[in-house]
Amino acid sequence: MGNLADRLKADLHYREGMRACINCGTCTAICPAAEHYDYDPRSIVELVQRGDEEELETLLKSDAIWYCGECMSCRTRCPRNNTPGLIIMALRALAQETGFFTESEKGRQQIYLKRTIGHDILKTGYCVYAEGLGTDTHPEQGPIWDWRQNNWKAIMERLGANYQKPGPGAMRQIPEEALNELHKIFEVTGAFERFEKIEQFSEKKAKQLGLQWDDSLNNEYIKQLYNGNSNENSNN
Ligand code: SF4
Ligand code: SF4
Repeated sequence: MGNLADRLKADLHYREGMRACINCGTCTAICPAAEHYDYDPRSIVELVQRGDEEELETLLKSDAIWYCGECMSCRTRCPRNNTPGLIIMALRALAQETGFFTESEKGRQQIYLKRTIGHDILKTGYCVYAEGLGTDTHPEQGPIWDWRQNNWKAIMERLGANYQKPGPGAMRQIPEEALNELHKIFEVTGAFERFEKIEQFSEKKAKQLGLQWDDSLNNEYIKQLYNGNSNENSNN
């Protein structure tokens, strides 16, 4: 598995985000995620700076690294020019590479995000595509959403959008050339390999937990992580 601290330091996000932390706590004071969760970027940066392997592994297996909203407010306020948000990005990448993400409730949600947002980007060019959100996975949308799902074309026309058609305008069809370019970006940046790892580690975890697994969004493993929320670290 290699040395976690070294692997972290090799990540470009880490190298840009970490200089020398003086443990002042300004990042935690400004962080919107810290207001809603038991989440403390200051202590994460301090832990990472210590570079203790055991502590790092525990952190990578925890929910803590999945609360950050990547708003980068911390970047604007840190007196030492650190960016905890970028350090979190590097930690998340390492958790995905090592499979440690499957050890926490929030980390396990990676498979759902990969199969929804990740697939939508590649297929449509949009990261959140309304048509992909059904009431089977989003019951909170209520029955009106089912009606919308069957009437997007008419709704979009009334709103003046260029729905799924070539040319400019909201909700337009993204040209094949641009989609191919997106695929190329995923290929050269290693995103496809990362996707594959998320799949493999998630499948392994599903088997460990004795939960049914397949390629859909409705397998037992995904259903359980989608509907389960311990609210363990929420302040609300
Ligand atoms: S604001 Fe910067 S120096 Fe202060 S605790 Fe956060 S990362 Fe460290
Ligand atoms: S980027 Fe993350 S850690 Fe930084 S302020 Fe935003 S939510 Fe907090």
